Amino acid sequence: MPTMRTVHYLDHAATTPMRPAAVAAFAEAAAQVGNASSLHGAGRRARRRVEEARESIAGHLGCRPSEVVFTSGGTEADNLAVLGQVAAADRDVVAVGPTEHHSVLDAAAHLATERGGSRDVRVLPVDDRGAVTADGVRELAGEVGDRLGLVAAMLANNELGTLADVPAVAHAARAVGAAVHTDAVQAVGHVPVDFAALGVTSLSLSAHKFGGPHGVGALLLDRGADCLPTGFGGGQERDVRSGSVNVPGVVAMAVALDEAVRDMDAEARRLSALRDRLVAGVRAAVPDAVANGGGERLPGIANLTFPGCSGESLILLLDAAGVECSTGSACTAGVAEPSHVLLALGADEAAARSSLRLSLGHTTTEGDVDAAIAALGPAAERARTAGLGMARS
Ligand code: PLP
Repeated sequence: MPTMRTVHYLDHAATTPMRPAAVAAFAEAAAQVGNASSLHGAGRRARRRVEEARESIAGHLGCRPSEVVFTSGGTEADNLAVLGQVAAADRDVVAVGPTEHHSVLDAAAHLATERGGSRDVRVLPVDDRGAVTADGVRELAGEVGDRLGLVAAMLANNELGTLADVPAVAHAARAVGAAVHTDAVQAVGHVPVDFAALGVTSLSLSAHKFGGPHGVGALLLDRGADCLPTGFGGGQERDVRSGSVNVPGVVAMAVALDEAVRDMDAEARRLSALRDRLVAGVRAAVPDAVANGGGERLPGIANLTFPGCSGESLILLLDAAGVECSTGSACTAGVAEPSHVLLALGADEAAARSSLRLSLGHTTTEGDVDAAIAALGPAAERARTAGLGMARS
């Protein structure tokens, strides 16, 4: 008989388990036929489900239902926000924080290659927590004025969990008429998010980060925002996003968000306490480990640097010990690159390759945290001494 290995999953920022209520809602909706764009009864029933989900999501996020544009996830929402709003604006300057997710950074880099390279893509300064500041935006706005087309400033950083003062950034950018996009993929479902109060023109979210399914998300797009489509077809979502709406996906996303919002306060308290226990325990086990980030942040993300250890080696050693975590964004974890977030904070390349992100979520227990603490001491020791230290110099 094979023995069952206990696995301690501490990678909730990469993806968190689907909530049972969301699984049930998904299965129920997936068992029904009907394209939400069809005129017959089945289509109308599918449309009703989609519109109920839209209303529920809008109610939780402080926007109007008509401002919810369903997408295939956070990446598509970020791409659409950046490419679509810049294409709609007759302005040539685009500004992004260096700590943004690659779905924002790479979209901005793409813009720099278009129109014969005539666009001016700027990297905004960040504070010591990796967050874009209003001062940085004001300085740029003072220099380029109404050439500023779009500012992208993420609400919660996916590697460090730090929260940015997005209302202040948005105020500074909108003073010169620029569009403002905030990537709230890591924030939605974990901390209160109010689209109207943030003052941005667009905001991205992704269901699998708060207990919904993969492959579904939304862009909240202000009614007054100008955004051109980036894909073409039926124009199902406000003429800005084409493709048959993922009915079971959006239904399950709404259920997951309902539950996440209902439990948010209690979960934030529980997870902050677990995160603090984790960081304190790891620093006791590995005295030279350095905790990154700080200040206003998500309750469930801890990021630590282990000098002299390769993050990748640590992940493999921890995995062998039944603890699953990552170096940062799951989207780049397969590619062995130093953390662009830590580099932006001034870390050298060696340090930027020596960090781990341990992220907690709705299924995390004290046992998971204690298992990670117990495993990290020996893993760091081996990574340093058994030739598993820096994989690259
Ligand atoms: N933005 C942030 C901050 C993320 O953490 C992620 C996923 O890791 C994304 C965007 C992309 O979301 P998705 O996986 O839904 O494409």
